[in-house]
Amino acid sequence: METILVVNAGSSSLKFQVFALGALSDLKCLIKGQIDGIGRRPRLRAQAADKRPLIDQTYTPDQVIDLPAAMHAAGAWLLETQKVELVAVGHRVVHGGPDYDRPVLVDAKVLADLERYVSLAPLHQPNNLAPIRALLARRPDLPQVACFDTAFHRGHDALADHYAIPQRFYAEGLRRYGFHGLSYEYVAERLRQVAPTVADGRVIVAHLGSGASMCALDGGRSIDSTMGFTALDGLPMGTRSGQLDPGVVLYLIGEKGMTAGEVQDLLYRECGLKGLSGISNDVRELQDSADPRAAFAIEYFVTRVGLYAGMLAAALGGIDAFVFTAGIGENSATMRARIADKLAWLGAALDPGANAVPQLLISRPDSRVALYAIPTDEELMIARHTLSVLSHSPVSAQQRRQFVDDSACTEDYQASHPRR
Ligand code: ADP
Repeated sequence: METILVVNAGSSSLKFQVFALGALSDLKCLIKGQIDGIGRRPRLRAQAADKRPLIDQTYTPDQVIDLPAAMHAAGAWLLETQKVELVAVGHRVVHGGPDYDRPVLVDAKVLADLERYVSLAPLHQPNNLAPIRALLARRPDLPQVACFDTAFHRGHDALADHYAIPQRFYAEGLRRYGFHGLSYEYVAERLRQVAPTVADGRVIVAHLGSGASMCALDGGRSIDSTMGFTALDGLPMGTRSGQLDPGVVLYLIGEKGMTAGEVQDLLYRECGLKGLSGISNDVRELQDSADPRAAFAIEYFVTRVGLYAGMLAAALGGIDAFVFTAGIGENSATMRARIADKLAWLGAALDPGANAVPQLLISRPDSRVALYAIPTDEELMIARHTLSVLSHSPVSAQQRRQFVDDSACTEDYQASHPRR
């Protein structure tokens, strides 16, 4: 069967999904899997769409020493055992820098451009690019599409895109990029299906997972976000600090003698819910804990979501809807209820019954701000982008034929995705 492979490569794991090639509006996920413990205790696990386990295999560290090797192992299993026929690969790439404001077909020149952005996202970008480079070398004929977490936010106007630092730093790429863009783009599309009038209005989307951020959408277009130059800014997260006075970093380096690497490690891995509670980065564990530090960490998170809602409401000049998504936003009725309380001054009134299910619409009919719980799907967004890019790219005649059937749908899709 002809398929699109979606790859999301992190520091020690490679997540993947396989989609059956179909119309843009009808891409079906067939297989979902990941290799984790790369270079330490590699383990490949995957399941079918109906959650049936397909494989659970361990490797020696030497067999899967790095991300290219993981890509090779996952690819070999998919091709040989699952008889998957790959027609393209879509990759999640955290940073598209100032210039890439849409998904792009990767060639050697694009890859070289994206390598320039490693300094902007040193923890993520090298991992995202390693499988692309490996595949480009091994299968130069196989189209690969890079989809960026930053792209959806590249239409921000200059006021939202700048820090108040000398302009020369802006010119070299020090900007308020914003992240989780693939999630926001998916949610914006889904909201348009669910409630088209609301989607045309002023909407805040809260992507609350182990990484967390919020985005202001005006008519489906991102106009501001809580994240900035890196995915450290804004909300406190599972292990990341969120917004800090930059003086804190100066203090850690100047007074505590910490190196830049040690500060980076602290801010990415030891802060947020984990740092505040001293217990866990996982909201479920904190909710189950009787320790007052756990309660404090949760209240801190909820309070910050409320404060940033105020900021983004100001950016939008008021709000018509607020959407919860990602791990915490999709799964925790309690967290949604506590956050909705913080939005009461904006006119939000939760429907506890709808929130408990949850339904998509979880506010009362008389609520001035509509509240939604909408599951995100970044991988599906990448698969759609991959198909869309390919049907508009000068790939080989044979590859192109495989996408022609979708061209009508793709054109509708392109029309509904005006470029900023
Ligand atoms: P990632 O950023 O890794 O994709 P997710 O969006 O999967 O993260 O979110 C993971 C987080 O969601 C967990 O760390 C946990 O805090 C939270 N979470 C998941 N399910 C629940 C739940 N039922 N109640 C509260 N929190 C939950």
